[in-house]
Amino acid sequence: MFNPFDKPNNKSLHSFPRKILGVVCVLATSLPVYASTTVVPPNEQLVLREIQKKVSAARLKADVTTLVGFGTRHTLSETKSTTQGIGAARRWIKSEFDKISAQCGGCLEVIYQKQTFSEEKRIPEPTEVVNVIAIQRGQLDPNRYIVMSGDIDSRVTDPLNFTSASPGANDNASGVGGVIEAARVLSQHKFAGTVVYAALSGEEQGLFGGKIMAGIAKKEGWRVEAVINNDMIGNISGINGVINNTTARVFSEGVRYVETSEEARKRRFTGGEVDSPSRNVARYIDQIADQYIPNLDVMMVYRLDRFGRGGHHRPFNAVGYPAVRIMETNEHYDRQHQDIRTENGREYGDVLSGVDFDFTAKLTSLNAVTMAAMAWAPPPPAQTEISGAVKASTTLKWQRPAGSMAKNLAGYRVHWRLTTEPTWTHSQYVGDVTEFELKNIVIDNYFFGVSSVAKDGFESPVVFPGPAGSFGGYK
Ligand SMILES: [Zn+2]
Repeated sequence: MFNPFDKPNNKSLHSFPRKILGVVCVLATSLPVYASTTVVPPNEQLVLREIQKKVSAARLKADVTTLVGFGTRHTLSETKSTTQGIGAARRWIKSEFDKISAQCGGCLEVIYQKQTFSEEKRIPEPTEVVNVIAIQRGQLDPNRYIVMSGDIDSRVTDPLNFTSASPGANDNASGVGGVIEAARVLSQHKFAGTVVYAALSGEEQGLFGGKIMAGIAKKEGWRVEAVINNDMIGNISGINGVINNTTARVFSEGVRYVETSEEARKRRFTGGEVDSPSRNVARYIDQIADQYIPNLDVMMVYRLDRFGRGGHHRPFNAVGYPAVRIMETNEHYDRQHQDIRTENGREYGDVLSGVDFDFTAKLTSLNAVTMAAMAWAPPPPAQTEISGAVKASTTLKWQRPAGSMAKNLAGYRVHWRLTTEPTWTHSQYVGDVTEFELKNIVIDNYFFGVSSVAKDGFESPVVFPGPAGSFGGYK
């Protein structure tokens, strides 16, 4: 029978908590000073350090170089050639996913998602937009999805120019390279939840690939826990002169786009403007970076995306799914959406030399570690509610999942922070209960949340109570 705690190369790690349990029980009878009936799962995961180390800058460089070699990957470009254009690019991505799958006993379902668009501002003629998706099915909770995405397509100055050289090395071969590399590393493990590697298309023409995928997920009833969209993860030299390879940005919406007017009315009185599930995914990524990614700090940006600009996490937010954008902190606009040229001694174009592959590897490892941690954790608590007005204490309630979804569940952790704090500052592990009272903590003065914790310590993102913070139900 499958046991999610038996991961390759990691047998000894996961027998560790059980040994602790044994020791605690023995001591409990003879030395009451150590008495403890609840074993708190560990919060250091050596397997995540292994995953972080396995991401390879050399393989990323090879993949981005291959993608650049297709000449242009414009959504309207050539699809029949085997060497040039977006058709060749997506067939190559599919073949890479197939290769990875062959090395893990067929652990990936590799599919195309297609839809034809026409009479759009940037798709004047009928054009098939095609995503390449690899799905690594979860062992305990297969309908819970954690998605990493990047974009196949590229463009130059004129968004309708589909013939000129458009390497799109950073925008966004770096993101697709990251998706493929994460698949290589994570496919060596088995997870409780489903992990998806998504190479989307049609981004530059109007976020069409994301719309296709979000629509399919919604229609098929996927419980999407997070979409981590990667768009430009290779540039370390900013237009403003800053050169820095130690920081990444994570953009997230504050209020859920799908909020109803009734939910907005309630939020006005109880809070939640800065606690959408997307925002709590961003906080999760921030914490993962601090704990597991050496020499990388996350700058959370409390904004859907860059000022007035777009990315492929947005179509997922638009249907109510948690989704964030990871990207470099220092952008260089001379190397985005530009015809390759030199003007007055200044070089323009999104060419290979603008990508720092050690940095791309760092951000790819941030994705891989985040997805592994989430996918090994139980589902985020559902139906989370809070009460305590005009009382000394605050009470949180939530639902426990049933069946195999709960198989790796140890219990829950409640979190709180001052309302002006950007991240969770206080927490308490409360065991396998569905209600907890924080004694003499007054509800008015803090924000609160709950996360679920696996027996081996993996933890879900924090869920802020009510519709404002909900990750959805268990069905
Ligand atoms: Zn772009």
